[in-house]
Amino acid sequence: MRLKGICSICGGIADPAYSCSMCGAIVCSKCFNSKTGLCKRCAAKVGGDRSSNETIKGIDETVRSATETIKQNMLGWRNG
Ligand SMILES: [Zn+2]
Ligand SMILES: [Zn+2]
Repeated sequence: MRLKGICSICGGIADPAYSCSMCGAIVCSKCFNSKTGLCKRCAAKVGGDRSSNETIKGIDETVRSATETIKQNMLGWRNG
């Protein structure tokens, strides 16, 4: 049985329609990524393993440098 409906992303007729495995939205073939099984919106959110890892690394780096700054400030205050 073929799904049919209105694409929740572009508003066009989705024939065949696909259902996003993440948000469950009905989308057309243009707005569906068959590789990931996700709609365009969720695919953009998820991004890809590589880019999400880089984001986590970046956050980790930010936290580390912030911690260093606090440490240095405390030392400076103590020696002060
Ligand atoms: Zn669409
Ligand atoms: Zn989705």
